[in-house]
Amino acid sequence: MEEYDYIIIGGGSAGCVLARRLVEAGHHVCLLEAGKKDKSPLIHIPLGVAAILPTKHVNWAFETEPQPGLNGRRGYQPRGKTLGGSSSINAMLYVRGHRSDYDDWAALGNAGWGYDDILPYFKKAENNERGADDFHGTSGPLNVADQRSPIPFNENFIEDAKELQHSFNPDFNGERQEGIGPYQVTQINGQRCSAAVAYLKPIRNHPKLNIITQAHTSKLVFDGARCVGVNYIHHGNKKTVRARAEVILSAGAFGTPQILMLSGIGPAEKIKKHGIEVRNDLPGVGANFQDHIDYVAGYKARSLDLIGFSLPGFVKMTAEAIRYAFTRRGILASSVAETGGFLKTDPALDRPDIQLHFVNGLVDDHNRTLHWGHGFSCHVCLLRPKSRGTVDLHNADPLAPPRIDPAFFKERADMDVMIKGYKIMDKIMNGPRLSSQVTENLFSPDSHSDTDIEQMIRNRADTVYHPVGTAKMGHDSMAVVAPDSLKVHGIDGLRVVDASIMPTLIGGNTNAPTIMIAEKASDMILGNSQG
Ligand SMILES: Cc1cc2nc3c(=O)[nH]c(=O)nc-3n(C[C@H](O)[C@H](O)[C@H](O)COP(=O)(O)OP(=O)(O)OC[C@H]3O[C@@H](n4cnc5c(N)ncnc54)[C@H](O)[C@@H]3O)c2cc1C
Repeated sequence: MEEYDYIIIGGGSAGCVLARRLVEAGHHVCLLEAGKKDKSPLIHIPLGVAAILPTKHVNWAFETEPQPGLNGRRGYQPRGKTLGGSSSINAMLYVRGHRSDYDDWAALGNAGWGYDDILPYFKKAENNERGADDFHGTSGPLNVADQRSPIPFNENFIEDAKELQHSFNPDFNGERQEGIGPYQVTQINGQRCSAAVAYLKPIRNHPKLNIITQAHTSKLVFDGARCVGVNYIHHGNKKTVRARAEVILSAGAFGTPQILMLSGIGPAEKIKKHGIEVRNDLPGVGANFQDHIDYVAGYKARSLDLIGFSLPGFVKMTAEAIRYAFTRRGILASSVAETGGFLKTDPALDRPDIQLHFVNGLVDDHNRTLHWGHGFSCHVCLLRPKSRGTVDLHNADPLAPPRIDPAFFKERADMDVMIKGYKIMDKIMNGPRLSSQVTENLFSPDSHSDTDIEQMIRNRADTVYHPVGTAKMGHDSMAVVAPDSLKVHGIDGLRVVDASIMPTLIGGNTNAPTIMIAEKASDMILGNSQG
């Protein structure tokens, strides 16, 4: 049986960072990834995300339980199933959240996770092409760039927002988060810089690293109270690998709680129901699930600047494909959402509570519904939802999808903020520059009453892809891992390192924060002082 120092389950945003840092430190590492190698060109060409999003190509494409808060609809939950994980299919926006989000984590009892503690890890991870300053680093593996060929149409959004007194912010990750501006992206030379490209590529052939793809972890292996290995399914065959030091779970906010429960770690009642022997009754596994609920407005418009389907559009796209092949520039290098903002629905708030993503194309139902013609969209999401959902098992089959219930809008307060957020976004969309381009507003409410806006939100809103919190760190009865080590409470030899450990959802996109978590965890594992 193969034996390694460390076994990492999941080659996603967190798993790639851990593999790199542990191998660099001289350890023998096995990385188990359920998906295939990240060879698909759709991963690396930035605009490819539009094609991956609605399909099962390198995508788990989960569905949620019917959501009462969404008028009974099932939500969609795309997740990367390939090396790089969700960082191989995400929109590449480089966002860290608000500094108070991390100070909140510390105030909840997670010493060492305040903003001043974690800023060095964001900087360590980053190579920002704008250069180094108090907030940014230039020697990390993760390349952060400005939009390579910004689409001029974005200026309409920026100027209309400025006219409404929203201040311009050139760097959402700098001194202040609030305002309207451009997103920086995790790209290098016009291609996606996933966690696999940034962290794994340089060490893929390292003699101390064994990456096994299409290896679906089915269960953790124990010797008494110690986790000593992993069972996985590889091309239909059951296999086992053993860990001399530790097993690290980085299977993401859905995979991690599922694997824990399949291994008998989690809420006893839920586990027993499926005939699984309880090893450790940890009620917090799969609880505390938080996600950004999001509404997308869509407008048809004539500008060929915008991505869309038309005969002139196809001609332009052919020319753009040739341009991209030779220069790695143009529309194919676009992250599609190039600009946006962080705004307050109430000026008295201490930080923004909604985020906008302005998209240079029509997005309807995660691109699962396509429209003829060109257009633009604007997302508005609620940054700190009060609703808490759950992730657990449908059955004991490791190959079955997890049972996902985000419980969107369970708390009334979330809807109240969404309605206010919608109105702010709608005002910008009705600004002189944007509205003069619109030929059709695809999804307007029956009236501008709160009741009609609410109905439209319930009929159309869904995730903006940031599930977290399903194995939260802390010391309370619902905590799953310890803040100073990310070791699973009550189990030896097992840590969780991924977006699951966030105690509360941060106010922004979650890739850079997950990479920061993995950088900090690497120091904890290696016993470096900053950890
Ligand atoms: C469509 C989309 C757009 C997004 N846009 C952005 C954005 O623009 N900016 C941003 O900051 N964030 C964005 N995000 C969110 C961000 O990418 C994620 O929060 C982040 O990648 C999560 O990292 P993770 O390591 O926790 O999980 P993941 O990166 O999802 O990694 C988990 C890995 O574990 C593997 N795995 C799961 N189960 C098993 C198993 N049983 N056996 C073996 N392997 C398993 C998976 O295949 C995957 O590779 C987006 C996400 C999506 C899906």
